[in-house]
Amino acid sequence: MFKFSVTILGSSSAIPTSDRNPTAQLVNHNDHLFLIDCGEGTQVTLRRMHIHFQRIEHVFISHLHGDHFFGLIGLISSMHLLGRGKKLHIYGPPELKEIIDIQLSVSLTVLQYPLVFHPTQADSPAVIFENENLLVSSFPMLHRIPTNGFLFAEKQGERRIRKEILGMLNIPVTELPKIKKGGNFTDAEGKLHLNSSITLDPYPQRKYAFCSDTAYFEEIIPVVKGADLLYHETTFLQDRAANAAEKFHSTTKEAAQIALNAEVKKLIIGHYSARYDDLQPLLDEASAVFHDTELALEGKTIDV
Ligand SMILES: [Zn+2]
Ligand SMILES: [Zn+2]
Repeated sequence: MFKFSVTILGSSSAIPTSDRNPTAQLVNHNDHLFLIDCGEGTQVTLRRMHIHFQRIEHVFISHLHGDHFFGLIGLISSMHLLGRGKKLHIYGPPELKEIIDIQLSVSLTVLQYPLVFHPTQADSPAVIFENENLLVSSFPMLHRIPTNGFLFAEKQGERRIRKEILGMLNIPVTELPKIKKGGNFTDAEGKLHLNSSITLDPYPQRKYAFCSDTAYFEEIIPVVKGADLLYHETTFLQDRAANAAEKFHSTTKEAAQIALNAEVKKLIIGHYSARYDDLQPLLDEASAVFHDTELALEGKTIDV
């Protein structure tokens, strides 16, 4: 099974605090690194955690509130100064390209590496990235400005040839791709082995759903349904529900209600208001509605 994990680089909302950075997360899928949002301080956190940030090839920006992208120009610049040569793909609202371009042009910076910008839209779900094993889609949130969540979904894997069978039947290497796709095998003596007798089912397809800034929004439920891991913002405790709605943010119970209705396996909450020093009450409130809840904390890695 591929490595599939999420590392929290920032868990604060609008303002960084002494021990919390604004939103950023690193997804590792099969040793491909994907950055989701890039709040101020992200590159410093990556360095502290000894994560080699030149390995990041794709950056997904959910929306253009500063706490989700103010760290991006710094990261782009450091990648340049440290001699990056390979492409960096950035996916985000169209205006983000103008913001990056003007910052580079006024400082007379000509990047040494290709920066490939992929504009996103926040009207309806869309597939924005695909490789052999993974699909990334964007989907709209309900926020003050156009905002996307991101769904990382594994593609159906191949059938797995049973280890003991490999040696026993002396299967030629050239036959393996066909068998992994479901084909039968005829051995040297002409005996037919049905695929079901020599292989195991593919590993289950896992999903990670990142729900960026949003008010309580039931329309995301079908999109994140059954996810192995759901991140949902939780800016406020439940007693500030009116405040949350006014600012198009969510409370603990609202995030947990989405997790419950979407029947996900695990929930991570984050994007805490700077007013909360102690996060335990947020965890308690969310866990009361959806039991398998964890706090997003800087440096924590969660397997999907
Ligand atoms: Zn935010
Ligand atoms: Zn926002």
